[in-house]
Amino acid sequence: MPHDPNCVFCQIVTDTRKCVLLAEDPEALAFMDIHPANPGHCLVIPKGHWPTVFDIPAEVFGAVARLAVRIAAGVQQALNPPGLSLVQANGPAAGQTVPHLHVHILPRQDGDRLALNWRRTAAGDAGRIAEIATRIRNQVPAG
Ligand code: AMP
Ligand code: ZN
Repeated sequence: MPHDPNCVFCQIVTDTRKCVLLAEDPEALAFMDIHPANPGHCLVIPKGHWPTVFDIPAEVFGAVARLAVRIAAGVQQALNPPGLSLVQANGPAAGQTVPHLHVHILPRQDGDRLALNWRRTAAGDAGRIAEIATRIRNQVPAG
């Protein structure tokens, strides 16, 4: 599968100790976002380096979608947010900052006013991210 050694998400695929891992399968990986827009914000990526939806084979996107469904279920069970958004950006104008395809899983709160291009905050609190990850991991259904 394609790999770019300079890509931060490819580096995570190579060494998952660089992320707070939630789950993985042969083709996809799920981990916590380091700058959470809301508590529980996490990402699902293909293990191969495909920058956008225009590059990735449809069946690999299908594998990403399958893992995203499981992670969304785990987030919902663990955190019970009143809403949850899946967001996938292609190109800088769409707000894509990491050119390795990813699906955001974003728990939503009433009135959180999250815009599609939400403002990046400073890195989230590592302890809190790890604690929320444990709660989600315990609720991710078997693949
Ligand atoms: P986007 O702006 O749609 O390309 O989203 C990229 C996301 O990746 C942002 O929400 C970042 O906070 C997140 N991110 C960037 N680097 C890392 C990293 N090393 N570990 C976890 N999340 C990251
Ligand atoms: Zn990559």
